Amino acid sequence: MIRGTMATAFVTHADCLKHEMGAYHPERPERLTAIEDQLIASGIGQHLVRYEAPLATDEELARVHPLEYVRAIRDAAPEEGTVHLDPDTAMNPHSLRAALRAAGAAVLATDLVMRGEADSAFCSVRPPGHHACRARPMGFCIFNNVAIAARHARHAHGVERVAIIDFDVHHGNGTEEIFQNDPHVLMASTFQHPFYPYSGTDDPAPNMVNVPLAAGAGSRQFREAVLESWIPALDGFKPQLVVFSAGFDAHAEDDMAMLRFSDADYAWVTQQVKGVADRHAGGRMVSMLEGGYSLSALGRSVVQHVRVMAGLAG
Ligand SMILES: [Zn+2]
Repeated sequence: MIRGTMATAFVTHADCLKHEMGAYHPERPERLTAIEDQLIASGIGQHLVRYEAPLATDEELARVHPLEYVRAIRDAAPEEGTVHLDPDTAMNPHSLRAALRAAGAAVLATDLVMRGEADSAFCSVRPPGHHACRARPMGFCIFNNVAIAARHARHAHGVERVAIIDFDVHHGNGTEEIFQNDPHVLMASTFQHPFYPYSGTDDPAPNMVNVPLAAGAGSRQFREAVLESWIPALDGFKPQLVVFSAGFDAHAEDDMAMLRFSDADYAWVTQQVKGVADRHAGGRMVSMLEGGYSLSALGRSVVQHVRVMAGLAG
């Protein structure tokens, strides 16, 4: 590690590459290999400390999801072929373990950061989580990974205030459902609106700092939202841990949606939020991969995000 940089953990698992939802599904294993390729090509990868994601336990999942839901997901897992949980979300024989690894990565990353074994952690895992509601899979998501991280921080480490930062192009409706009016969580998000999942704008709870952005909005509108809405709310809340729902599908090159963020915007927003973490949370940041479907833009954007978390120069 270079002197002056911060220890950043990189948490992943090979099981996350085996979860597939169909030949043409955009949420595909190649997303994780694109991230690894760009981390190597950029030279950032050598500064990260790698960890294998454990399987989340029922106790860890049950802080967010009713055990009947966890059981229903276990029961739905096929021995062969593919089963659909909703029109966008499917399981193959490897999906259950991938989902348990993704949730387990959230737990391990939180442990590493809270114990001071890492300053920050990025979890390169799939399935993503922020559309998963307490008792419903949705939008490529099975377990709500950021919610599991936030609840683990509270129950295993006594953290009273967790900020969840969600810059995915889609509103994190599952995370909002789980934490609305929860005094231990402040969620700050931007998302394209009106757009899937058509939520986040109808009288959000006071602990939800939701900034909808119109199709076509780019760096200027995003940075205004962060500076004018997120940062004052975050500084008022004084989080003891920051958890990112890090989706990169608002990138201009990502044709899943119609926002126009740049690579540089992901470095910039990470720097802004790192300022919040440094002021209030001892710099502690956990980041969970959500969306991002243009493989090149995804890999490059993760490099920008992780580079700033790790304190490495561009
Ligand atoms: Zn998304």
